[in-house]
Amino acid sequence: MSNTPFDDDKLHEECGVFGAFGHKDAAALTALGLHALQHRGQEACGIVTTDGDHFYAHRALGLVDQAFEDADVMKGLKGHIAIGHNRYATTGATLVRNIQPLYADLAFGGFAMAHNGNLTNPNTLRQDLVQKGSIFQSTTDTEVIIHLVATSKKNTVPDKIVDALSQVTGAYSLVACDENQMIGVRDPHGIRPLCLGKLNDAYILASESCALDIIGADFVRDIEAGEMVVINEKGVQSHHPFGKNASRFCIFEYIYFARPDSYVDGHSVYEMRKNIGAELAREAPVPTADIIVPVPDSGVPAAIGYAEASNIPFELGIIRNHYVGRTFIEPTDQIRHLGVKMKHNANKAFIEGKEVVLVDDSIVRGTTSRKIVEMIRQAGAKKVHMRISSPPNKHSCFYGIDTPDSQDLLANQKTVEEIGKYIGVDSLAYISDDGLYRAVGETERNAENPQYCDACFTGDYPVRLIDHEDQDNIKRVTNLQEHSAK
Ligand code: AMP
Repeated sequence: MSNTPFDDDKLHEECGVFGAFGHKDAAALTALGLHALQHRGQEACGIVTTDGDHFYAHRALGLVDQAFEDADVMKGLKGHIAIGHNRYATTGATLVRNIQPLYADLAFGGFAMAHNGNLTNPNTLRQDLVQKGSIFQSTTDTEVIIHLVATSKKNTVPDKIVDALSQVTGAYSLVACDENQMIGVRDPHGIRPLCLGKLNDAYILASESCALDIIGADFVRDIEAGEMVVINEKGVQSHHPFGKNASRFCIFEYIYFARPDSYVDGHSVYEMRKNIGAELAREAPVPTADIIVPVPDSGVPAAIGYAEASNIPFELGIIRNHYVGRTFIEPTDQIRHLGVKMKHNANKAFIEGKEVVLVDDSIVRGTTSRKIVEMIRQAGAKKVHMRISSPPNKHSCFYGIDTPDSQDLLANQKTVEEIGKYIGVDSLAYISDDGLYRAVGETERNAENPQYCDACFTGDYPVRLIDHEDQDNIKRVTNLQEHSAK
């Protein structure tokens, strides 16, 4: 995301984190957990383990099943504690040295950390640390936390982590370990998810509950906003070092990012999406429509909700080829265009002669919608309407969802009517802010203290964007031009 001052120093990532404590197959559980969290990041992944004596690590570019397919790699990841990470960094250099979990030999011993979310003041802190002599190995914001842990004067590892985190701002769900404990922390607003599970005597931390399901672990609870859990031989100790705060969980996780089979903060993601679709049908009905068609896969649950509430048949009018990555995240416009064509095809038999309502979760640059509308028209649709299960996406995310700069967001530049024209539909409607809040179980959006982080729609950022506000005074984080080993 180019909201950092330098294009080659991207710090903005989408990620999944996982950790297992107290299991002889900790690394294998972690590989499986990361596989279930693959939707949160497909570019690179890694696992660090410890047997209480030594640490073992494997990090690679690419998908989890390829990175950990080698039996020798898995055998080498010894120990009863493991933490893992998968990531997608926006554009720019895909550096092997940025792959997490990061590991460091600190004064007290080995320490590893995996981070989901983005800090909003890492460059400011980094400049200060470099002044004091810190030598950075990566360009990630996570390494800033590690340096702050390394230089903390506190006595215990959890206290050092709290000391470090009291200096950072932004979004973080962290899983860390030293040789005898695993630590999980969620930032004071709980912007990114993190939950606790149990598998017999072992404890699990994961971005989403779908990663517990894959290993047959029980869901225990979500880690609370601002909570730190320290997991060791004695069990789980919970701390609230930043006081008790009202959560501002990212509402876009419900709309798009989380897996529909996950539960986050007590809600089924699938159910939330269906509710949003139903609310959208009430707010923006198309009574004359013949069929409701999801833009697969992310539009499916909302389209089911829309179809049920409007009593119009749901049809898979678009078939997705599953062997192509998410088009949105391909780095160049050229490939993005190509990718959309490769990814979706109209199911002509069900489209021809019909008045179609397409349901998708969001319009970002409008590339997908434009192509799909054209495709549906070519397949012979009589009329094409588009319904979007999020409010217009007008503002860039600084907390860990990959979005382009605000000026590249279609809704930042055009009115709903103009967007409708641009994507070529007969009508376009988005869910309203209050409609979205109703769908997720609130009566309305509380304007004073919003119940969720919805900055991408409202521009109401719950955490100050310190580096972004101070771009002129922030220096380049690295001068090294490095080629990725892709
Ligand atoms: P666009 O073609 O740029 O308008 O992108 C819209 C499509 O991207 C929608 O179908 C969304 O499901 C998907 N999308 C929205 N946000 C993201 C994201 N952060 N990462 C990947 N895909 C996304």
